[in-house]
Amino acid sequence: MSDRRTKVGNTANGFAYEEPLIFEHSTDGRDGFSLPELDVPPVDPTELLPEGAVREDLRDLPEVSEVDVVRHFTRLSTWNAAVDLGIYPLGSCTMKYNPKLNEKVASLPGFAAAHPLAPDELMQGFLQLCHGLEQQLAEVSGMDRVTLQPAAGAQGELAGIMMIRAYHEHRGEKRSQVLVPDSAHGTNPASAALNGYSVTSIPTGEDGLLHPEAVEAAMTEEVASLMITNPSTLGLFEEHIARICEIVHAKGGLVYGDGANLNALLGITRPGDLGIDVMHFNLHKTFSTPHGGGGPGAGPVGVKNILAPYLPTPVIRKLGGDEGEGYVLDYELPRSIGRLHGNNGNAGMLIRAYTYIRSLGPEGLKRCAEMAVLNANYLLARLREHYHVPFDRPVLHECVLSDKFLHETGVTTLDVAKRLIDYGYHPPTVYFPLVVAGAIMIEPTESESVESLDRFAEALIAIAEEAHEDPELVRTAPHHTRRTRLDETRAARHPVLRWQPERSA
Ligand SMILES: *Cc1c(COP(=O)(O)O)cnc(C)c1O
Repeated sequence: MSDRRTKVGNTANGFAYEEPLIFEHSTDGRDGFSLPELDVPPVDPTELLPEGAVREDLRDLPEVSEVDVVRHFTRLSTWNAAVDLGIYPLGSCTMKYNPKLNEKVASLPGFAAAHPLAPDELMQGFLQLCHGLEQQLAEVSGMDRVTLQPAAGAQGELAGIMMIRAYHEHRGEKRSQVLVPDSAHGTNPASAALNGYSVTSIPTGEDGLLHPEAVEAAMTEEVASLMITNPSTLGLFEEHIARICEIVHAKGGLVYGDGANLNALLGITRPGDLGIDVMHFNLHKTFSTPHGGGGPGAGPVGVKNILAPYLPTPVIRKLGGDEGEGYVLDYELPRSIGRLHGNNGNAGMLIRAYTYIRSLGPEGLKRCAEMAVLNANYLLARLREHYHVPFDRPVLHECVLSDKFLHETGVTTLDVAKRLIDYGYHPPTVYFPLVVAGAIMIEPTESESVESLDRFAEALIAIAEEAHEDPELVRTAPHHTRRTRLDETRAARHPVLRWQPERSA
């Protein structure tokens, strides 16, 4: 076995003792600041502030010093899995490295300290950046116009389907259905349903692909849109995409492209050229901005010109001719679906994504896609003897395995995922896509070196061996964490979301 192999043990090397809740650190009368003695007459805040704006009861707030606060949160941060600590192989989520240059640019005072309600004249640099990002995303995807407002991919889908609905309604058409392949992400049917559409699931073929015949059979003039993810959540390029778009268009429908997997296509092909009418981008996936705890997401949406009248307002408009120079936020779009986000969307993410695109350039973006595809195929090749491969063909940016080879041992995908934690890895996406029983879905991204991929593959191979030799070890993992196997059903059904003083008493 390679000596590079990660030793069993948690890499999250915080202090070994239990960290209490911040409330449990509380000591009566302790605080984190000291103010000089009052040298003005005291006032009663209830006389100055409207009713309801003054809290009467501050009983349960923790009383802690600055040191208590800093140590508490710093310790918790060391318990975290993060892309700065190692591979974060979540399939479909594109957990790529977040370049530090992005952070540097986003923290320039002109951006970081700008007031979100500043008038356009004082935001010219930021508006120019946003306009530039819109153009870059349009260029990468083959779309005509882009809005940066949506706060995540899911909200981008919602916006896209709202525009499709507005388009049909404006043409006097009442369509009632949206088609979604069975390999789709759950947000797709949710976005359609939130817009009042009924969802028709389209089965994918034996080869994992969506076939024109299946779409043709379901496509009627009741269908507003087909939502398609390409490459699909199985990591497969939808080879019939052009024909499928023709079938939908022929009956007056529009094609929504779920762009979460755009990382695989950057600089190689463009959804807009394949027939997609509207799509979202996940800046926190493809364009390297942090996910979740690292900050909010952003899900810009690109549209073809036919949908441009419905874009959310305000739109950023570049002035020209008699209007003079510069950029304005334009609210005059009579058929707009309206505003989707306060101010300018999640502005910090837009700056980071712009920086990423500008620092890589067209050639760099293309190289990202090539390396992401190479990495996924490399992992697949290393793992295929040890884990079942449901759709055995070259993949794009991610690969899907299953626990079928482990059935005789009683070890399941969940057990493998839990055991990976003992090897110091965040588990991949499991049990998704739903069309694969016991799915293990891995997206290494272009960020990982071959050494890092080897270490990760060797951990998975070692676990497959353990499953045969000592299944109980795997079935009761993790063994090296502060918490072992949780009762996940109970955690989901009866979450404890409030601090209860009596609990710690
Ligand atoms: C991540 C993802 C989404 C949703 O995007 P969020 O930014 O998480 O809201 C939709 N579809 C697919 C295929 C995804 O991977």
